[in-house]
Formats: sequence, C-alpha cells, structure tokens
Amino acid sequence: MYTDNHNHTKHFSSDAKMSAKELIDACKALGMNGVAVTEHYEGDYPHDIGESQIFDIPSFFEESKTWIEYAGDLPLYRGIELGYQKHLCAFYDDMIAKYPFDSVIMSNHLYKGKDPYFFRDGYEEPMIDVYTRYIEEMADMVEGCNNFDIVGHYDYINRYAPYENPQIKYAQCPESFDRFLSAIIAKDKCLEINTRSVDKMRKKGLSDALPDPEILKRYYELGGRNISLGSDSHTSDTLCVHFKEVSEYLSTFGFTENSYYVARKRHGEPLV
Ligand SMILES: [Zn+2]
Ligand SMILES: [Zn+2]
Repeated sequence: MYTDNHNHTKHFSSDAKMSAKELIDACKALGMNGVAVTEHYEGDYPHDIGESQIFDIPSFFEESKTWIEYAGDLPLYRGIELGYQKHLCAFYDDMIAKYPFDSVIMSNHLYKGKDPYFFRDGYEEPMIDVYTRYIEEMADMVEGCNNFDIVGHYDYINRYAPYENPQIKYAQCPESFDRFLSAIIAKDKCLEINTRSVDKMRKKGLSDALPDPEILKRYYELGGRNISLGSDSHTSDTLCVHFKEVSEYLSTFGFTENSYYVARKRHGEPLV
C-alpha cells in the first residue's frame, strides 16, 4: 500500500468535510503505509468567501498531537499546503522555518489573481493561452520560493476548465513545461501527481484522465525522479483514490518510488 501525501481535515481547512478521526479510521481500513495532513494556508487570499483561508499553526501542532496518538501504528505526517502568490515567497520561507512540519506542498490556486474554482471568467481566453500562462506562473513559483518540498497539482487549471478536452498537455506549451520541470529538478523538489485531478477528469467522462504521458516522459528525460502521490482528499472516501492504477502507469515511464517526507527529508516507497 501507499503513503497519501496530500489531505485536508475540517479542523483547519475550511473546505474539508472529514475529521482527523475519520481520516485515520479510513487509512487503517485501507491498510495504508502512512498519511500526510496538509491543511490549506492561503496568505492574502484575494476573495472574501466568508471563511478564513489560513489557520493558526501552533494550534495545529497542539491539536494534531492527539491525532498522532489516535493513529497509533499508522504514521501520520504533519504538512501544509501553501497557496502561492509571488509576493509571499519570502514570508512563507521564513514562516515554514519556524515550525516542525514533515512536508510542505506549494500550490498555485490562482489564475490572473483569481481562483478558477470560484471564478471561471479566465477561461474565456483560448485554452493554450490560459495553460501557458498558468505553467509560466508555476515555473515562477518554483524558482521564486525555496522552503517547500512538493509542487502541488500542476494541473489545477484544468480541473474547472469548460473546454471540450481540458486535459493539460506538454505539447500545448513545451517551452513553459521545460522551464517548470527543470526548475523542480534543479531545486531538488518533488512533482505531485494529484489523483483528485484524475478523479475529476474521469467523472467528466474523459478517456485521457491520466496525466499527459509527454509531461511525464519529459520530466524523466530531464532527470526528474521525485514524484509524490496525493489524493487531495477533503472527505474520507477518496483517500488513495486511483493510486494503484496511477502507480502502475507511472512505473511505465521509469519512475520507481512514491516520495514521502518525514521532518522535511525525502523517503521513498516502491510504486509497484
Ligand atoms: Zn490545492
Ligand atoms: Zn489540497
């Protein structure tokens, strides 16, 4: 079984539905190797959605002690999912250094300063323009921020896209992908394969729901070996969703390990 590197609980992520106890019970029922809780922290979130998009980090470390106790033999890692904006890199680098996180995911939930989950007007532009700009911003993020481990869902932009075939592909913006993937490798970060994205594509009935093979081939070809699986669960019924299928798929490109982090150090478990 696997370690699931990306999950949210209702205690500290306002959009999550599951409790830590439900998360742990589900992980045990699945016989998982381990699980990381990575609550949302969106500094300067540009929208007022009535709920805080940040949380009190000392309270998280205090409360999660009881989760670790309840988890018993199941390793429970304490992470965070940071929401990127260019002006926050230095702030995040300092903030993360103050706390004993196991893993830090850096994600970009904004396109032109708006979250496409709430605002779809960005998609009025042609798909290639939108995706190119998003991947350029992802490259800016990896180049500009330092104190993180995992690059979250590079395909966030296609989750809510209304285009006929919304899957993001290498061929749409090869130069931007090369810049993005090279930065991950140069900074020894880890590319997340987000299976919630796969699930969303599949629920739309798309045949190519799995990540574009050309992106994975190019990452490997450039020297990328670090990948991590994350279900991005907000409810307990999606932990490790599609992990087995995605792991087998990833192994066909030469990847051998699912990376997970303990006290900010990378470890690997076999993909298949
Ligand atoms: Zn996210
Ligand atoms: Zn997430």
